[in-house]
Amino acid sequence: MPNMIEVDVAIIGGGIIGASTALELRRRGLSVALIERDFCGARASGVNYGGIRRQGRPLSQLPLAMRAHDIWLNLESHIGIDGEFIQTGHLKLARTEADMVKLEHYAATGADNGLTLELLDGPALRRLYPGLAPTIAGGSFSPDDGHANPRLVAPAFARAAARAGALVLEQREVVWAGSGPRGFLLRCHEGTEVHAARLVNAAGAWATSIAGQFGDHVPMQVLCPTMIVTEPLPDIIPVNIGMEGGGIYLRQAVRGNCVIGGGRGYLVDALRSRPGVSGIEATTKRAVEIFPALRQAQIIRSWSGIEAFMPDKNPVIGQSPKAKGLFHAFGFSGGGFQIGPAVGILLSELIVDGRSFLPVEAFAVDRFGHSPAEPDLDKVPAATESREGA
Ligand SMILES: Cc1cc2nc3c(=O)[nH]c(=O)nc-3n(C[C@H](O)[C@H](O)[C@H](O)COP(=O)(O)OP(=O)(O)OC[C@H]3O[C@@H](n4cnc5c(N)ncnc54)[C@H](O)[C@@H]3O)c2cc1C
Repeated sequence: MPNMIEVDVAIIGGGIIGASTALELRRRGLSVALIERDFCGARASGVNYGGIRRQGRPLSQLPLAMRAHDIWLNLESHIGIDGEFIQTGHLKLARTEADMVKLEHYAATGADNGLTLELLDGPALRRLYPGLAPTIAGGSFSPDDGHANPRLVAPAFARAAARAGALVLEQREVVWAGSGPRGFLLRCHEGTEVHAARLVNAAGAWATSIAGQFGDHVPMQVLCPTMIVTEPLPDIIPVNIGMEGGGIYLRQAVRGNCVIGGGRGYLVDALRSRPGVSGIEATTKRAVEIFPALRQAQIIRSWSGIEAFMPDKNPVIGQSPKAKGLFHAFGFSGGGFQIGPAVGILLSELIVDGRSFLPVEAFAVDRFGHSPAEPDLDKVPAATESREGA
């Protein structure tokens, strides 16, 4: 006989999105099963750059980022650890005067949404950060942003959900999802059956295969952002750095290692990715263009993660128009770590109250019109360039 479980809400995917949703739903009193194929936080949520950045996000996401920021500031009381969140500040650089104009425009609209940014011209930047290359035209500084340790934070959300009473099922792959006598029925590979009145699809880069089983098709792209880490170095990178137009992001850990992202790797198969040589070369070249002192640095480690990107860089969040009671939350396009804690609140409000603190039209699953098929992860091509900015 298969192991049978019945809950109010089943969540597929134990990344930061699924786990924060499980936590918030338990706080609202619903019974929850969080079902994860690997270990919670082992995928994009646990291997990302750790950038906790609000500036540069699409304006439709800014309220989510602001709400999440309050949680990051009080992370320990929220999930039991501080996640090594440090408010180093986040500095977005402009390569050209035209890019600086874009930063000025963003700062003005950010201010309308409660985000205070300080604009700095090239000379002012170099006075503050003498290691910066003379070619940098200027920048925009967000003093309260920073970075955290994703390895610690993502699993901690799942542990907090478990402590709050969620049933956390790890190493359980959902191989079939459909309707059942109590709403939804999920079948896991080893025989577990989960019955639930509501279903959350938080399956990250694999979410379109779940969405497709209910007739929701979206033009999601699966890419493999790549990270490199240098040997411990003297102080070079003062704050969390990003670049207008993307292509590179850098920070320096307390013990001196520089963590640098921006290139892309490739998929080995549907579950494994690897850094690519050309992506690493492009990243190191760009890093040296910003901080020339990195020229002599040794790279000691590299890795890549598997991430879901949407054409407009906005995630899919909200109820399926095809299957009442199915809620999607995927496609975070390189930026789901910072907003993850607030996405859990938003989804719990949608599920329990039928409305949320933020309108979700910009995130509708059907906003792209008809999309015929989901990507076959075995056939995703390798890419070397990246314009996403963590
Ligand atoms: C290298 C890299 C750097 C990044 N840097 C940043 C950054 O600095 N700041 C930022 O905000 N964001 C960043 N991101 C993006 C961020 O990590 C993601 O947007 C976020 O973690 C997505 O969370 P998730 O829960 O949707 O996905 P995931 O963490 O991928 O979780 C989805 C989970 O679903 C599980 N799953 C899938 N299918 C099934 C199934 N059938 N049955 C059971 N379980 C299933 C998977 O095993 C996985 O654990 C980065 C991403 C990468 C890869």
